[in-house]
Amino acid sequence: MSRVRLLPDTLASQVAAGEVIERPASVVKELVENSIDAAAHSIEVMIRRGGTSLICVTDDGIGMDRDDALLCLERHATSKIRTAADLTTVGTLGFRGEALPSIASVSRFRLTTREKDAMAGTEVLVSGGKVETVRDGGEAPGTQIEVRSLFYNLPARRKFLRSENTETRQIEHQLSLQAIGHPGIAFSLVRDGRLVFQLPASRALRDRIRDLMGNDLLARLLEVKPVQGKVQVSGFIGQAGVSRASRAQQFVFVNGRAVESPVIGSALHEGYRTALMKGQFPVTFLFLALDPAEVDVNVHPAKREVRFRDPAGVREAVIAAVRQTLESDRDSWQEQFRAPAVNLSSPVEPVTRSLVPNDEIQAHLPVDASTPAVTGRPPEVEKIDPPETPHRFRILGILNKLYVLMENADGLVLVDQHAAHERILFEELQRRMEEKGVPSQRLLLPQVVELAPRDAEWMERNLGTLQKMGLGVEEFGRYTFKLESLPPFLSGADPSRLLYDVIDNLKSASQSASPMRLGEEMIAKTVCRHAVKANDQLRAPEVEKLIRDLLECELPYCCPHGRPTMIQISLGELEKKFGRKV
Ligand code: ADP
Ligand code: MG
Repeated sequence: MSRVRLLPDTLASQVAAGEVIERPASVVKELVENSIDAAAHSIEVMIRRGGTSLICVTDDGIGMDRDDALLCLERHATSKIRTAADLTTVGTLGFRGEALPSIASVSRFRLTTREKDAMAGTEVLVSGGKVETVRDGGEAPGTQIEVRSLFYNLPARRKFLRSENTETRQIEHQLSLQAIGHPGIAFSLVRDGRLVFQLPASRALRDRIRDLMGNDLLARLLEVKPVQGKVQVSGFIGQAGVSRASRAQQFVFVNGRAVESPVIGSALHEGYRTALMKGQFPVTFLFLALDPAEVDVNVHPAKREVRFRDPAGVREAVIAAVRQTLESDRDSWQEQFRAPAVNLSSPVEPVTRSLVPNDEIQAHLPVDASTPAVTGRPPEVEKIDPPETPHRFRILGILNKLYVLMENADGLVLVDQHAAHERILFEELQRRMEEKGVPSQRLLLPQVVELAPRDAEWMERNLGTLQKMGLGVEEFGRYTFKLESLPPFLSGADPSRLLYDVIDNLKSASQSASPMRLGEEMIAKTVCRHAVKANDQLRAPEVEKLIRDLLECELPYCCPHGRPTMIQISLGELEKKFGRKV
């Protein structure tokens, strides 16, 4: 008895819809993509009850004639590709011809559309995949699609929907993605009768980001520096230390298509290494452009993922772009410290330091309210030799034995002395390691350490790396190693403890990392212990040197664990806080 049979069309569409249309946000994505492909200048989205009761997308694009308006509801009906070869050069967001029939099969669906010069438009009503009415309609040129009662005929799917708020957030995110990807198109979103955003068509991505995310975020973004190569990278990324606990603000586009790409995600992490706190994600508005033949866009039913022909090349390009951009930020920061000292309060000498007993810097701030220390007279200052670097700042004091308070042309700067020193030590060691390996100091008494077999095996494989890092270790018998020398910065450490630490730290570092990267991770962990701490009282020249060394670092704004080293509070911000400026 034969058991195999063809599914009726409607059922087949519902099955396909399971993949393409997971939730209301997928409907929004597909409809908005269609509007973009139809060369719309303006797209309006209206939703009710998280999109479950209504999603309506209206565009002013090219519209459809009556034949197309009916045909587009058939499965695998598309105007975007014709041959298999077209798949390798897809320039539109859609190409699968699945979205409209899928959506129409799981909702009460209404399509009205009109071509620009047509006398009349067309209105099509579909319910659960069955065309019910076709008539003249569609007032303005363009297309409007209304999707009501999503999944009304698939109760199981409906049960999987999350709360209205969650679904709404997803829709907002989806629409934000499209809006960031297409700044030249005006977008608006109306939720339950209330306007959520209205974005005018803007000429530049920068304007779109400002309109959507606000000035504060924009101020903390850096424009990506172009890198030569097959993969062009552009857009904006967060400064070192700017991050989120999720990928919610990680916008990535490949040839104009918003994608989720593990390759790019991990490249971003690598590019941001030592510039992000653990568990945090960078904030990016990243655009990759490459030959369409190098990207397979047809790997995911919702076209969310892509496959690269040369993932390693893409990875390298992203890492290089991020690295260069973060490092270029230093130059602009240094500008702040080079700017003519016009704003520096009197005395206007570029570099001065407080003259306080014992040469120790103390905060000139009241410690608590009961002991007001404000004397009405500024602390006396003494000129010191012009600095060898051109940075201009004035150290005001140390707060709570930790934060260096200083002034530059832009206003007040707070520096965490511990984080700053970590960054300085880290980069110094990294540089030395890359150039010639870390110098090492012989121990008075070599230490012999016996390791567990697995650790011993790891040790053997990595002896070369350890030596470059200044750890003089050699084999000394079965599972036994002799430690003869250490880098000077570790000289106080207990040698055998240290070996165990190194093994544990390096083993947990990522597998794919190069040996030098392993070294970096270890350095990042060790410098923490060796950097000056909170409560370490530094002398004035030491603080001065600390700040100068910090400003010379490649990524001065965060410690190797991604915490900020300095915070700038501009005069403008102070004026706002004091109500001098509205
Ligand atoms: P795809 O986008 O993969 O081609 P869809 O099912 O999303 O498949 O759409 C089918 C076809 O309907 C499209 O190829 C396009 O020609 C037409 N279409 C859909 N939406 C619009 C729209 N908003 N404006 C003009 N044409 C549209
Ligand atoms: Mg489509």
